[in-house]
Amino acid sequence: MLQFDILVIGGGPGGYSLAINAAKHGLKAAVFEKEHVGGTCLNVGCIPTKYLVDKAIAMEKVRKLVSKEIFRDAGSFSFQKIQKEKGEVTGKLVSGVQFLMKKNGVELVTGTAELKKDRVVACNGQEYQGKYVVIATGSVPLMIPVPGHEYCIDSTGALNLPKLPHSMVVMGGGVIGLELACAFAAYGTEVTVVEMMPELMPREQKEAVRIVIKEMKKLGIRLLTGARMLRVEKTGAGLRAVYEVDGKEASTDCQQVLMAAGRKTNLSGIDAQALGLELNAKQQIVVDAHQRTNLPGVYAIGDVVGGYQLAHAAYAEGEAALADILGEDKPMGTVPVPVCTYTIPCFASVGLTTEAAKEAGYEPLLGTFNYEANGMALAEGASGAVFAVMDQASGKTLGVTILGENASEMIAFAATAVADGTTVDQWERMIVAHPSLCEMVREAALDAFGKSVHKG
Ligand code: FAD
Repeated sequence: MLQFDILVIGGGPGGYSLAINAAKHGLKAAVFEKEHVGGTCLNVGCIPTKYLVDKAIAMEKVRKLVSKEIFRDAGSFSFQKIQKEKGEVTGKLVSGVQFLMKKNGVELVTGTAELKKDRVVACNGQEYQGKYVVIATGSVPLMIPVPGHEYCIDSTGALNLPKLPHSMVVMGGGVIGLELACAFAAYGTEVTVVEMMPELMPREQKEAVRIVIKEMKKLGIRLLTGARMLRVEKTGAGLRAVYEVDGKEASTDCQQVLMAAGRKTNLSGIDAQALGLELNAKQQIVVDAHQRTNLPGVYAIGDVVGGYQLAHAAYAEGEAALADILGEDKPMGTVPVPVCTYTIPCFASVGLTTEAAKEAGYEPLLGTFNYEANGMALAEGASGAVFAVMDQASGKTLGVTILGENASEMIAFAATAVADGTTVDQWERMIVAHPSLCEMVREAALDAFGKSVHKG
């Protein structure tokens, strides 16, 4: 049996980053990956969606300039070329991860691994013994078994469409559904989103949600909330999505139905019952703040444990697990996790909304600042708004929501402020480069106390 310090099952962002980090600390690590390293994120998730969204944003920007007669025409584009280059970008990143693993001495075993008792992993007819095992098997798209679901595509199918569909019904108005809805709508696909919940983004700052809904409607997206998909039928020319909305049956004919109704944990190679591994009701692996499962020496990180189900959360959970293995105390849950939805424009938030702050017992003040009053935003033709939730008593920053261009970059700045509890006095003394979009985060925080100079 081959001996290792750490055996990692799954080479997604959680698994590969933990293994590289472990190797940097002198531990002998192996990663088992049955498809491609980089997992969902690099191959069929974060990166390919952002590639599609980025080109869509570029087109929207050009269209705006055409409407102002600054550009003469919007030109045409090749969806096939977009898809081709998307593949090249993801391929480059996957090779980069393989290179880093090799450079750091991490052994990559290609094949489906099976976890056995006492931290033994079997793969390709070979057994490996680990002092520690980390389960990082991620998640896969969830297909809701409505009649006709076999005609639907999932997010992976949508990302790999060879041709741009003229129309698409998106079942599910969550992060993945909205991102793909925005990208395809900007490319010219007629998009209808069918969401069962009465509202979109229910846990986000309401004022920002109202703006993003308006923006998505401007892109031509039909947003149906409180609408339950009943079935998908084949018609002569394509598909018909049949749903119930306002107590009545209605339908939309389309070329593709994208099912984006969530993801389920991937327990391939993990027979939880036989191993005695504890799962919760959602079939997610139960872990403590150090990512320890109930099995000695076995940790779990990333989508397979539920929680945020974001790549950067998987990285952070990997760091918490490795810290525990190294005898350090760095549990998860001590720093705020920024959350981005790459709609057009982008929606990013960190920390508490006004509502959540009230529920937590604070007396929050909401400061706002519009892109329309920021020099850089005007120069770039960007629109949107920043919302800062501040604690009236202590003056501390509790949460920030940014809706607009570059929100996913600016939220890192806001996340530091939330993590550090930056006070209004500290914001006053902070110098932010001018012109920059980040000035708006400072202005929003100051506005909560009536101290923003540039807010009318
Ligand atoms: P995964 O990335 O799912 O990797 C798990 C790996 O384990 C896979 O490669 C799989 O092949 C392998 N595996 C499973 N079982 C075995 C086995 N038995 N043996 C060997 N290998 C095995 N997150 C963000 O933070 N930002 C985004 O913008 C974003 N966009 C997304 C867009 C889409 C369309 C999707 C689907 C997801 C998106 N996500 C995003 C979520 C993100 O991709 C996941 O949170 C992240 O990939 C989880 O990482 P992970 O390491 O837990 O698992």
